Amino acid sequence: MPKSQTGSPPSKSAESAESAESAESAESANAANAADNPATGAQAKKVHRSPPEKRSGPPQNGLETERKIIACLNPGTGEQFDAVPMATPEEVVAARQEMRRAFPIWSRKPVAERVRILRKFQAVLIDSLDEITAIVNKDNGKSRQDALIEVFTTVDLLNQYCKKAPQWLAREKISPGLLIFKRCYVEHKPRGVVGIIVPWNYPFNLALVPTLSALLAGNTVLLKPSEVTAATGKLIAELFIRVPELAPFVRVLHGDGSVGEALVQANPDYVFLTGSTTTGVKVLRTAADNLMPVGLELGGKDVMLVLEDADVKEAARWGVWGAFFNAGQTCMAVERVYVLEAVYDLFASQVVAETKRLQMGYSDDLTSPNHLGPITLDKQMTIIEDHLADAVAKGATILTGGRRNGSFFEPTVLVDVDHSMRIMREETFGPFLPIMKVKDEAEAIRLANDSPYGLGGAVWSTDIVRAERVAHQLQTASVLVNDSIVQFGVPLLPFGGAKHSGAGRTHGKAGFLAFTESYAYMVGQPPLPFDIATILREPGQYHTNAALLRLIFGTSARQKLQPFLEKSPSPTINIARKVAAAGLIGGVALALGWLRRARRK
Ligand code: NAD
Repeated sequence: MPKSQTGSPPSKSAESAESAESAESAESANAANAADNPATGAQAKKVHRSPPEKRSGPPQNGLETERKIIACLNPGTGEQFDAVPMATPEEVVAARQEMRRAFPIWSRKPVAERVRILRKFQAVLIDSLDEITAIVNKDNGKSRQDALIEVFTTVDLLNQYCKKAPQWLAREKISPGLLIFKRCYVEHKPRGVVGIIVPWNYPFNLALVPTLSALLAGNTVLLKPSEVTAATGKLIAELFIRVPELAPFVRVLHGDGSVGEALVQANPDYVFLTGSTTTGVKVLRTAADNLMPVGLELGGKDVMLVLEDADVKEAARWGVWGAFFNAGQTCMAVERVYVLEAVYDLFASQVVAETKRLQMGYSDDLTSPNHLGPITLDKQMTIIEDHLADAVAKGATILTGGRRNGSFFEPTVLVDVDHSMRIMREETFGPFLPIMKVKDEAEAIRLANDSPYGLGGAVWSTDIVRAERVAHQLQTASVLVNDSIVQFGVPLLPFGGAKHSGAGRTHGKAGFLAFTESYAYMVGQPPLPFDIATILREPGQYHTNAALLRLIFGTSARQKLQPFLEKSPSPTINIARKVAAAGLIGGVALALGWLRRARRK
């Protein structure tokens, strides 16, 4: 059993965002931006009504809307360490209008200027490392080092995007095709106001990566952090305030799913959600009412294949890491493993040995020895326990782990699992590594693809050619050969989900350009009489156009020359035939003359 350094505090509960009546509130400033409205000292489960005279921001319609307060609980200790007021529906609408007004100012800045301003934000992030990791650690329960990985990958992406953005946003020349007298190009323009909705498992990275991408592309942003990690959202709002040139173009809207829903209903120009597949469906439904484009980064059931020629020790080591990093609360965590029978026993025993090495616990030290922290959310703990109970009832065997201790759950390795079990079919989002024996490569691929999800996969084999061949048969939007979950750390590699794991991409050029819309331009003088594009548009040119089509696109000499070999109903074609015949005869005569002269010499 893994070593544990914990007591038994409760996980966070969604209940902590409930509301109750309260007359007093010191929080009257613009609650749409936490930095303008610090909530320190506010009572959880209380509604704060702000005296109208103290309001400096919306709502301004005279309506008092109940304000809920999110209690920020440390899932590692159970202590409340902060409180954050939720945005009201009126504030969501007001923030949307404010960002709409700010959009022309930000989008008109040249990209080099936006890069310059975002580099200042990069400097702020680097100056604030310890502050950021301290809050993420309290909010989510992960170690300071794991929190630092979030910042590391965020800054890496920002740095790469700042270098690439001018090139990606540059005007793109496009071939005009047959319209040879025209000049065509594409411009990638910002969408406008972008709504970004964030989960709690990587509350810093998953908030900032889309936000910074959207800003760099020229959009203004409405950011809705997760209610489960609201303190991180509050800190992010404060970090933006530290770059005064950037702050007016982002609004942070704190709150739960109702605020997320209000954000989508406020009709931004694009919504980017990272969250569960269930929420993805809800957002898509709401967005459909306004034909609003959406980007969805959703759940997964990531798969790992261990072929008989794999380096089993390394596969076990990194499979365990990929399954239990962030206590398994990672969208692309290794959630199921298929191992060829030749190496199954060895792999399972290595996995158990690796897992027993892991230390579980909460610490706020910079140098925590822990590999796994707590389960951040009560609701998640229920899913974890349900999946385990279902698997065991259907015949699964626990090789190590399997027990809850307060808000912690031991890293758990299971065998004798099959696809009748929820643990092999549904996203668990917890510290489980179920291993299934398969007879051959084909069965491994078939079972890997037998899933509604298609986020990520990994293939382990010492034969890279074979591993890549297998990788190409997996129906997952990213595949690693001989590694686990690190694809997300490569800023220029597009990341996203196939099947029910999402729509669209984040990271890379594709992920960046998702925050833009392509506008096409065709420029030139008015159509010329002998331009093909003019002829095609003139009425009565059917035969001419059919002849042109054959001549230009015919796939054989017969198809291309057909218009010149047969008499056509079109006078134009007949003239062309005669001109072509004359040209041909003239050409032959010239060639003969040239040959004769050459002979005489
Ligand atoms: P969630 O779907 O419960 O919540 C995500 C966000 O959506 C939260 O901010 C929440 O307040 C908001 N929300 C909830 N209901 C809403 C609604 N009706 N309209 C608008 N917004 C709404 O997810 P979670 O529990 O916070 O995060 C875990 C899930 O996120 C897992 O399924 C995980 O796989 C997924 N995830 C995916 C990726 C990826 O890149 N594909 C990354 C991280 C997490």
